[in-house]
Amino acid sequence: MSTHDDAILDDAGRWRSRDLAVLWHPCTQMREHPDVLPLLPVARGEGAWLVGHDGSRTLDAVSSWWTNLHGHAEPRIAEAIARQARTLEQVILAGCSHPPAVELAERLLRIAPREAARAPLAKVFYADNGSAGVEVALKMAFHWFRNRGDEPRRTKFMALQNGYHGETIGALSVGDIPLYRRIYAPLLMQAVFAPSPDAYLARDGQGAAACAEDAADALAHLLDEHAGEICALVLEPLVQCAGGMRMHHPAYLRRVRELCDVHGVFLIADEIAVGFGRTGTMFACEQAGIQPDLLCLSKGLTGGFLPLAAVLATQAIYDGFLDDSRERAFLHSHSYTGNPLACAAALASLDIFGSDDVLARNRATASAMQALAAPIGRLAHVADVRQTGMIVAFELARDGDRRRPFDPSARIGLRAYRAALARGVLLRPLGDVLYWMPPYCIDEPQLALLAGVTADAIVEATA
Ligand SMILES: *Cc1c(COP(=O)(O)O)cnc(C)c1O
Repeated sequence: MSTHDDAILDDAGRWRSRDLAVLWHPCTQMREHPDVLPLLPVARGEGAWLVGHDGSRTLDAVSSWWTNLHGHAEPRIAEAIARQARTLEQVILAGCSHPPAVELAERLLRIAPREAARAPLAKVFYADNGSAGVEVALKMAFHWFRNRGDEPRRTKFMALQNGYHGETIGALSVGDIPLYRRIYAPLLMQAVFAPSPDAYLARDGQGAAACAEDAADALAHLLDEHAGEICALVLEPLVQCAGGMRMHHPAYLRRVRELCDVHGVFLIADEIAVGFGRTGTMFACEQAGIQPDLLCLSKGLTGGFLPLAAVLATQAIYDGFLDDSRERAFLHSHSYTGNPLACAAALASLDIFGSDDVLARNRATASAMQALAAPIGRLAHVADVRQTGMIVAFELARDGDRRRPFDPSARIGLRAYRAALARGVLLRPLGDVLYWMPPYCIDEPQLALLAGVTADAIVEATA
């Protein structure tokens, strides 16, 4: 560290107080800082590590809100951004074009989920964060039916219970997590919520597949009930992440695809959290062999370096907007649509998937995670351990029985967070669900640290 850095960054405590004097943090009851909720000053990142001003290391077990894929400050992505910044940092994407936007669209369409019997996803619309991407997909679906004009009642969206799609008003309208939604309910548009296929909700002795079939039957019923009113169904394939890393059987997605076709409803797959290798395949839809009509991508899209979203659409949806009238065009825009730096980061991240054979390495890492998670699942207060690829979740409950959760006011998850942070691991539980969603570069010693600290944190928090 240079002497200049030393002078500025010698004191984590000073950074904490400067921060709290001026910043309002996301998803945080600010009153809890810094006493109830510690604030972690980060000077730099290095692989799976967050490094403090004193050089202390904290393992980023949540990939910085599920964005990071190949490690912090990954040199190849950093270099690609620097190169692009010296070439073209930003240009208006209405009326202009630039190579990173075109190349990224070509590559995303080439790797997108594909069903042999269906016309492939054919066009890419960019936005600059996940919620904005969801808004784009919802507006496109609605507007497509408006443009067609023959089904004026198709004004509603269907979504899943316990789903999450972001925080802007439209995205929040199709989300079903009371903590985020309830207060804004009077502002939200109408949506119809179908039961979640969540395997954790399975009846005693019922398998995940049967549970998925039940949820699909309920969805079929709701679609009948609202026939001709729904323009699109939006869901998170395989894992409802913000809803507590709740996982479902891919059979559900196959039924959903069929039902959407039968009812003429667009299927929007929100792979903002699960895309780019997180579930074991490049995209979660692949595990069900389905192709959505609209695919939302963000978070890991840039390897976790810059905000960017992409919405992939079919040719049929795109064609529905071609007209002499400007009002029939999709006039949605964001100032930074298709930012060249973000697109360059995304291209560099996709290169790493190829050069480092990331999906194959993830398979090995995921089986190591499975082995390390098993003994934690036998702790007294762990009611469930579940895994989909590079996501492992531990559900805590009073006596290990899923029907006897902890009293939320006990804030067991928060206690586990503090216990883990004190031991050098950043876990950020969702309620009483602890989970591992690490950068893909996590190595064996780091995994061992993660498992040991998770076990200790659960024991300490539930003591
Ligand atoms: C995080 C998330 C979003 C919202 O993305 P932001 O970039 O945070 O707005 C939408 N959908 C899912 C499934 C997410 O996990």
